[in-house]
Amino acid sequence: MSGRVYLVGAGPGAPDLLTLRAERLLKRADVVFHDALVHPDTVALAARAVRICVGKRHGQRSASQPAINRALVRAARHQALVVRLKGGDPLLFGRAHEEIAALEAAGVAWEVVPGVTAAFAAAAQIGAPLTRRGQARSLTLVTPALGRGEPRADWVRSVLGADGAAIYMGLGEAGRVAEALLSHGLAPATPVAIVEDASLPQSQVLRGTLAGLHRLAAGWRHGPAIILIGAMLSEDLPAQWAEDAASQREAQGPRRRTAFAARLGTG
Ligand code: SAH
Repeated sequence: MSGRVYLVGAGPGAPDLLTLRAERLLKRADVVFHDALVHPDTVALAARAVRICVGKRHGQRSASQPAINRALVRAARHQALVVRLKGGDPLLFGRAHEEIAALEAAGVAWEVVPGVTAAFAAAAQIGAPLTRRGQARSLTLVTPALGRGEPRADWVRSVLGADGAAIYMGLGEAGRVAEALLSHGLAPATPVAIVEDASLPQSQVLRGTLAGLHRLAAGWRHGPAIILIGAMLSEDLPAQWAEDAASQREAQGPRRRTAFAARLGTG
């Protein structure tokens, strides 16, 4: 008899952006395999589980994907409830399909529990409407990053084909990203925002234009970051841009635009 593997979205970072279903499963889990980016308080919910970090972080060694796949299958053969806990939503840029394929091949039952993806947390933090009646009806979630041996996907066309884009894993090559978009005709004045560590107290927001993206990215502190670009940032954004995730949660009422402006360019 074999257990069941739940691929669970942990949300963008803040531990309270977890679904109730995810929380319930974590509390009952026998074993949890989690990414490095998942908040320790979220992992700690799995109090009775064996907790194994298989995460990938810049410059650090991590378990290889085939090794993770094998570990999930093995765990399901010995444990009833196995959780594979992934940052954001498990089906977005998370290689979930490879894990699902391995589970399928081994005849292990699996289920996906969705999570709040980083793009949604980034947009929420600055109150940027991802669609906007009469102005923006499409959003692309895209990455310029390539896995080893992956063909060069035409990510630029995805951005150009939508009204707005949330670019994942793009800040490390911000210069190249801007260059590619500009050379394909996106206007230099297209508004961009970098939201780093979205939903977390240490979050920072850097705002500018596509032409200045490279310079803006110099303020990046090398945390996980989303680049928002396009229509959702145009014109009358709410005056009360969140200064940080914590103050946003406390809902202290309107904040001064100057307080946000003072953060710009400070890195
Ligand atoms: N499955 C995840 C994405 C994994 S890829 C999701 O749905 O969100 C990892 C990338 O996600 C990072 O390089 C970064 O671009 C983005 N990311 C993850 N957490 C983030 C956060 N708290 N703030 C901003 N970007 C984040």
